[in-house]
Amino acid sequence: MTDWRARARAMVRRQILGRDIPAGIVTEAMADLPRHRFVPVELEAHAWEDGPLPIGRGQTISQPYMVARMTWLLGVGPGDAVLEIGTGSGYQAALLARMGCSVVSVERIAALARQARSVLTDLGLAVTVVVGDGREGYAPSAPYRGIIVTAGAEELAPAWSDQLDRGGRLVVPLRVGPGTERLLVRARTEGGFVDAWEDYCRFVPVLPGVDES
Ligand code: SAH
Repeated sequence: MTDWRARARAMVRRQILGRDIPAGIVTEAMADLPRHRFVPVELEAHAWEDGPLPIGRGQTISQPYMVARMTWLLGVGPGDAVLEIGTGSGYQAALLARMGCSVVSVERIAALARQARSVLTDLGLAVTVVVGDGREGYAPSAPYRGIIVTAGAEELAPAWSDQLDRGGRLVVPLRVGPGTERLLVRARTEGGFVDAWEDYCRFVPVLPGVDES
């Protein structure tokens, strides 16, 4: 796909800036990412559409707008340490790396982690992809300025709050009722935590344990 930059710019203009995300580091980094590289070859032509796409193993790459929205809510910038739970295709991690963040991403399905690593390396993006159960966070690189969970959680894992730096933010789609999830933004202050509820959303679930196949 030789004309991907034009497609990326159009996607950002229509789907991201056209909604409520202001121009800035998130939209610039997104316009500079070949999203088609993060979807299965047979779906490349659909990579720029306004929705999620299947990436195999029953998982999905999120809708571009949702990626932008969560990244914007995370409020991170160059040099910030960020932890992602749910690497999937690697697209969200790539966006954070393109923004200059220092990114660790945890994925429970080894095959997806391998595929994401390969694309990220190919694009020259330095992301540490770890195979593990993201409910434990990733203690060796903690604390983080931002923690972004890109799968739907039944409950908040204590590790996410524990591994958050003071002044940092956690963004997580949390189950709030049957079939209903909502983005929770938790800010860590000097004194404790401040929670705010944002968009309703729909994600594949956070599952326990590691799948080594
Ligand atoms: N951020 C991804 C989208 C991820 S879909 C992207 O940009 O493409 C959600 C991912 O979370 C799936 O790949 C799923 O396997 C993973 N996941 C679910 N439960 C997990 C857990 N406990 N630990 C780590 N990853 C998990």
